[in-house]
Amino acid sequence: MPQQKITPPPEPEPYENSDLYRIRHSLAHIMAQAVLEKFPGAKIAIGPPIKYGFYYDFDLPRPISEEDLEEIEARMREIIAGKHPFVRRVVSPEEARELFKDQPYKLELIEDILQRGTDEYGEPLPPGEKPVLTTYKHDTFEDLCRGPHVEHTGQINPKAFKLMSIAGAYWRGDEKRPMLTRIYGTAWRTPKELRQYLNWLEEAKKRDHRRLGRELGLFYFAPDEVGPGIPLFAPKGEIIRHLMESFVREVQTKYGYQHVWTAHLVKEDLYRQSGHLDNYAEFMFPPMVDGEDVYRLKPMNCPSHMTLYKKMGKHSYKELPLRFAEFATLYRYEKKGELLGLTRVRALTQDDAHIFCTPEQIQEEFALALKIIQEVLGRYRFTDYRVRLSLRGEGGKYVQDEEKWEKAEAALRAALDAAGLEYFEAPGEAAFYGPKADFLATDVLGREWQLSTIQVDFIQPARLGLTYVGPDGQEHTPVVLHRAVTGTTERFLGILIEHFAGAFPVWLAPVQAVLIPITDRHVAYAREVAAKLREAGLRVEVDDGSERMQAKIRKAQLQKIPYMLVVGDKEVEQGTVAVRLRSGKNLGPMTLEAFLRKVQEDIEAGV
Ligand SMILES: [Zn+2]
Ligand SMILES: [Zn+2]
Repeated sequence: MPQQKITPPPEPEPYENSDLYRIRHSLAHIMAQAVLEKFPGAKIAIGPPIKYGFYYDFDLPRPISEEDLEEIEARMREIIAGKHPFVRRVVSPEEARELFKDQPYKLELIEDILQRGTDEYGEPLPPGEKPVLTTYKHDTFEDLCRGPHVEHTGQINPKAFKLMSIAGAYWRGDEKRPMLTRIYGTAWRTPKELRQYLNWLEEAKKRDHRRLGRELGLFYFAPDEVGPGIPLFAPKGEIIRHLMESFVREVQTKYGYQHVWTAHLVKEDLYRQSGHLDNYAEFMFPPMVDGEDVYRLKPMNCPSHMTLYKKMGKHSYKELPLRFAEFATLYRYEKKGELLGLTRVRALTQDDAHIFCTPEQIQEEFALALKIIQEVLGRYRFTDYRVRLSLRGEGGKYVQDEEKWEKAEAALRAALDAAGLEYFEAPGEAAFYGPKADFLATDVLGREWQLSTIQVDFIQPARLGLTYVGPDGQEHTPVVLHRAVTGTTERFLGILIEHFAGAFPVWLAPVQAVLIPITDRHVAYAREVAAKLREAGLRVEVDDGSERMQAKIRKAQLQKIPYMLVVGDKEVEQGTVAVRLRSGKNLGPMTLEAFLRKVQEDIEAGV
């Protein structure tokens, strides 16, 4: 069933040449003027346009408040009304230093432009552009700037921008430098676009998985007790995890995958041999030392699965492809400041698989993986996605085996074409050990997420000494495909919560139906019905609390439970339940058989 999309107005492409870029950039200057008028001693740092808006960093004499923002916004509207032209001029180093003599951050940027050839934000210039010292002036405010801007402030719609928030930001992102005050604003062409953007933001806030996760009782974080980025799943959250894993497991089994289990602790030597210690150490938790032996928490499954392949004895080409799948919890040392709800955690469970095959089997195995991914994403109502095909680029970092690359890249393209999938090629984005394909799926809020991955690997199997005996009786090295369908269970669940606004499809809802007895004398019947529904495989609760019926219905709606089954005298007498949906729709009385049929239909329809 298609969901209604709620998206912000589209961002122009290429952004740097667009009217919105000029509007937002000009508003950053106008805001700086208003702030300087309010705080004459303030120091100004940088103020670039960004996605959806702009910001400016200030060194202010005191913290600022919401009221300050309103005042600044009002003053900005006055400046806009003045229709002041933006005037560009080229300045000499001496002039620039004199002009900004009271602005130490600007002086630092000027020296950077002169000595390191950066832009006015201290960033590298786009290729082909020359460093210049130019300023833009409107009204009384002149800023070190390359532009571009609107011609005059009157070209900005005074009702189509809004100052949004205040944040702390270190000068040049360096925590040893001063902490500045960053003011964020959003800006659009028309008030209508601004409203659409604010609506979308509001919707995203309502759907925030961290908030819904708490409200629906799915998961919690205990950074002080258990550790940052390590989620604790409550019964209702665990049930969803379990359903997600069972579903993928079922699909994988259907397509000839075999499930394996490997432990969370692995000797460091294996990661030395696989190459992870050289390339991946910063994402691994520190070593655990036990006398002579050094262990690591497992950051990825590949070396364990490959060791298992080896230990299972000599392999003949007739056994290939071998497909090992595992739902494994992995540990990755993400920086504390970058942890974010379930979308960035330190303990993550991957629906991982490694496919051991001959080079000739790459295309077929890749096609099969594509099929599995499409089937799984479809069940989660992700039907809007595109595929990025990451290929080899220029330079020597890629494994030097022309023939292998060419064949593998051709195999991937052929499989994508045969599957009729929309894809784009990204030369130079491949890992050094082989090409890969990533699925970028768009959620109902129009945000794109990288979910599934299929990665071809020419290197690790050789490093770990994997072989198979070919039809020629000789030993060969198999190719390995690394593949994840939903990526990680935790992150995908976070995305799903926001995609569905917590109203999971019936098959995935932790509680599918709640029995609501009208008075105490209907509780026994409610329990009896619940027992029968449980026997039929439904996840059911009985709300026998003392609140009134309406309050119970409201509670169930907030919990996004798909079916509310109200039972009173009439239902007891007739052996029925009065069915209400979480949307508020009333389906009236139904026998249990009819209700179970309805549930089954809804599950099949993906409701
Ligand atoms: Zn500027
Ligand atoms: Zn792998």
